[in-house]
Amino acid sequence: SPGDLRMAVKLPDGCDLNEWLSENVVKFLNKTKDLYGLVCDCCTTESCPNMSGGTGYEYHWADGEKYKKPTPLPAPVYIGLLMDWAEALINDDSIFPSDVDVPFPKQFAATVKQIFKRLLRVFVHVYYHHYDEVKQIEADWHLNTCFEHFHYFVNEFELIDPKEQEPLKDLTKQLTLVETLGKGLWV
Ligand code: ZN
Repeated sequence: SPGDLRMAVKLPDGCDLNEWLSENVVKFLNKTKDLYGLVCDCCTTESCPNMSGGTGYEYHWADGEKYKKPTPLPAPVYIGLLMDWAEALINDDSIFPSDVDVPFPKQFAATVKQIFKRLLRVFVHVYYHHYDEVKQIEADWHLNTCFEHFHYFVNEFELIDPKEQEPLKDLTKQLTLVETLGKGLWV
């Protein structure tokens, strides 16, 4: 139930905050990747020439390396780059130390926030552009539960600027109307 998820995100007693963030960023990256995998056949450069959320939001990719300036890209290209970028970060031992005796680096929190901020964009894209396909394969409950968990987690630790979450406000209202089966999500 929503109450359980709300509790599940809290820092467990005796757990180090960075350890908890680290464990969860990996978990949410994998979940987001799996969810996108459900619709990736329908998310093509033709169907989604921009990384958008409805008509109101468009995201441009920059990684400071190949894409030095924010660059408009088709959604599947953007999401592929995003996943590779996040995967490389969590596998980078200098940012996510695998040895518990090695302290987390100074930029750890900022890196975690950036990963969550970008993962949110995948949810935004899927909700705005692929929700019908998600419903068709009856994965909407799964998507909504994962997103709800994500939403509680990022808000518990203030990982995403409320401004970045604006695209979902309108959507939350819409989905509340759509999800009238009393599942209790989105409240
Ligand atoms: Zn798409």
